[in-house]
Amino acid sequence: MANRIPRVPVREQDAKVRATNFKEVCYGYDREEAMLEASRCLHCKNPRCVTACPVGISIPDFIAALGQGDLRGAADIISRDSSLPSICGRVCPQETQCEGSCILGIKGEPVAIGKLERFVGDWQLANPSEPATAEDNGHRVAVIGSGPSSLACASDLAKLGYAVTVFEALHELGGVLVYGIPEFRLPKQSVVAAEIENVKRLGVKFETNVIVGRTVTVDSLLDEEGFDAVFIGSGAGLPRFMGIEGENLNGVVSANEFLTRTNLMHAYDEHFDTPIYVGSRVVVVGGGNVAMDAVRTAKRLGAEATIVYRRSEKELPARAEEVHHAKEEGIEFRMLTNPTKVIGSDDGWVRGINCVRMELGEPDESGRRSPKEIPGSDFTIGCDVVIMALGTSPNPLIASTTQGLDVTRRGCIAADECGRTSREGVFAGGDAVTGAATVILAMGAGRKAAKAIDEYIKGKQFREQ
Ligand SMILES: Cc1cc2nc3c(=O)[nH]c(=O)nc-3n(C[C@H](O)[C@H](O)[C@H](O)COP(=O)(O)OP(=O)(O)OC[C@H]3O[C@@H](n4cnc5c(N)ncnc54)[C@H](O)[C@@H]3O)c2cc1C
Repeated sequence: MANRIPRVPVREQDAKVRATNFKEVCYGYDREEAMLEASRCLHCKNPRCVTACPVGISIPDFIAALGQGDLRGAADIISRDSSLPSICGRVCPQETQCEGSCILGIKGEPVAIGKLERFVGDWQLANPSEPATAEDNGHRVAVIGSGPSSLACASDLAKLGYAVTVFEALHELGGVLVYGIPEFRLPKQSVVAAEIENVKRLGVKFETNVIVGRTVTVDSLLDEEGFDAVFIGSGAGLPRFMGIEGENLNGVVSANEFLTRTNLMHAYDEHFDTPIYVGSRVVVVGGGNVAMDAVRTAKRLGAEATIVYRRSEKELPARAEEVHHAKEEGIEFRMLTNPTKVIGSDDGWVRGINCVRMELGEPDESGRRSPKEIPGSDFTIGCDVVIMALGTSPNPLIASTTQGLDVTRRGCIAADECGRTSREGVFAGGDAVTGAATVILAMGAGRKAAKAIDEYIKGKQFREQ
């Protein structure tokens, strides 16, 4: 019986060694391991894994092709629904999506769908095939931002024959995939740049260093530049702070700034001399994926690194795998601890952070038990850098420079399920609409918007005729 085979373990870099370098933590499966793991799939008639995948990849079909050694077939099946399998195989929260719904997971361990997707994605990057390009349909679409929502939207539109131009504010393409998620989880050249290359091969054009809202506007793209529709995938890159005393001291940074500096200025690469200050003791405030990335990056840059989180370990929003890796690498976790003040020296630099201990009370609206301060439990953690990883929201620039574009109370662009906004011809998706979420949800939103854009442009053409 296929399901009697235990889940094939994946090889990883030794924890002590990897805590001092930026090479990828997980080595992934080789062909033999991937085929053995593929043989565990039960090929359910009603595959719950497909329903749980936000982009609806035909998971049992690609696993069946892989199990028969037909890697091209497996890659083609994934390509129908995802243009970024090497990326998603690495960073998707599979434990709550496809693998979380796998029938084998009820009594044992689910099929390692993410690792299989990664294997097929990497094989495809090493063995590219000619992309099936569509005939130009005479319509142009502008896509703002080059993160996963935009890449998914642009790919689908290019496959339908649209001339797509992506406008990216930064000098590098990929959004959070390049400036947020660190190299040790997601290699920038061999994976992110390579998968973006595949999007370029579909005919999508990219223009970097274009800040929409400054260099051009959504209005000018539609009214002067001749685009038929615009997709906004500008993400949620504006960091939040706690609003506590001392947050403006030297040495307090947002996780976004810290990770962007590390990634875009190649601080992870020994051949670059990057001006980044990590100090000797770093405290990262927060418990999500961003906090884990920041604390593990600080450790690799040579600091003693600690997570401070106000709830208990059970409530940590970060992926279990990331928490496990962080612990293995020697990260200190201070749970049920909340900062109250950053303290500085006379020279204006951080020298510590005052905290209070917390206990958990009744569940709040998020369903998680809300933390309450324990009176008189104040204490200080000595540190020279504090990194705030408390979440992000969308930058208001595009909304404030586009006529008739509604935003929600939380400052996100208001859009329906299909990405339609209040402004005709303008669509949006990903973190810009939902607030900080995940790569695959952003891709799903980009794909839905591509479909809606196609319907909109065809409908308009029909009405005009
Ligand atoms: C450190 C970190 C770790 C994460 N880890 C994970 C993980 O493990 N798994 C997971 O699924 N998700 C993770 N996420 C979340 C995930 O990366 C995001 O949900 C996803 O990237 C959102 O995609 P997006 O396309 O909406 O926006 P983004 O990826 O943010 O891309 C938006 C792009 O738009 C550009 N832009 C913004 N404004 C303008 C403008 N005015 N003009 C032109 N361009 C503009 C930005 O420069 C950026 O390139 C992580 C996020 C961070 C920050």
